[in-house]
Amino acid sequence: MSNIIYKALRYSGAAWLWRETVQRGKVTFLLFHDMGAADAERNFAYLKRHYNIIGLQDYLKAVRQGTKLPRKALVITFDDGHASNYAMLPALKKLNVPITIFLCSEIVGTQRHFWFRHSEEMKPQVEALKRIANSERLQKLEAYGFEQEKEFADRQALTDNEIKEMQASVDFQSHTCFHPILPQCDTATARHEIADSKLQLEQRYNLKINTLSYPNGDYSERDIQLAKEAGYTCGVTVDSGYNSLRSDLFRLKRFSVNDAHTTEELMVKACGLYALIKHKLHKPPYGLKPARQ
Ligand SMILES: [Zn+2]
Repeated sequence: MSNIIYKALRYSGAAWLWRETVQRGKVTFLLFHDMGAADAERNFAYLKRHYNIIGLQDYLKAVRQGTKLPRKALVITFDDGHASNYAMLPALKKLNVPITIFLCSEIVGTQRHFWFRHSEEMKPQVEALKRIANSERLQKLEAYGFEQEKEFADRQALTDNEIKEMQASVDFQSHTCFHPILPQCDTATARHEIADSKLQLEQRYNLKINTLSYPNGDYSERDIQLAKEAGYTCGVTVDSGYNSLRSDLFRLKRFSVNDAHTTEELMVKACGLYALIKHKLHKPPYGLKPARQ
């Protein structure tokens, strides 16, 4: 189904038309995770040609001050802080593209694993593990040799030095400490994950953290409240849609454009139409949820 939607949007010219009409007056946020150096340069160059790329902090400043943003304003974000992100630095500098990377404070700078990337063996279980209580998830992961604080031979996240070197070109923000599914956490755990990741990143890298990216795009009203209490001013989801200067700042929408390996694919996914149609047909499993107590 996804493939049919994609081809129809690409070859009918609908993606182009949508971008130049509907998307024109909106602020679009894109979500990437893991992009090689070559893909980064090509993708950023494409986006720069067709959009006005602004930083997340520029968007927040415009909201605060009520100033106008350019047409087809685009905010580029990356979740997790994968080790591969460092290879994008030359492309970011060369094209002068502002991006935000959301870091898991207890994983970056260590040899700890992202639980959902721990091993090939546990990968088929990942989706099911997102739907159970946090403590139960951690217990089940032990059977695969995963523990949150255990360090492994291979490194999955950015190092401290890489983060420091990238700071002049990249806005770093929080993606919690260990990447739990927040609504599956009890309140004390959710509070710790939200509040302490902010403190840790601020202290370790001398950053100003004002935005939380909810892991896996899962969040609850409680988690929004906890983010506000911790001093964040903004929270980003993976809910499909565009933003404006009047959007709810704790439920900013983003289009996920994972695995955009070709420019055609990026064109269709960055305009938003692909996800809007796909999610209309099938409600995605992530988003706003009730929280466990
Ligand atoms: Zn993530």
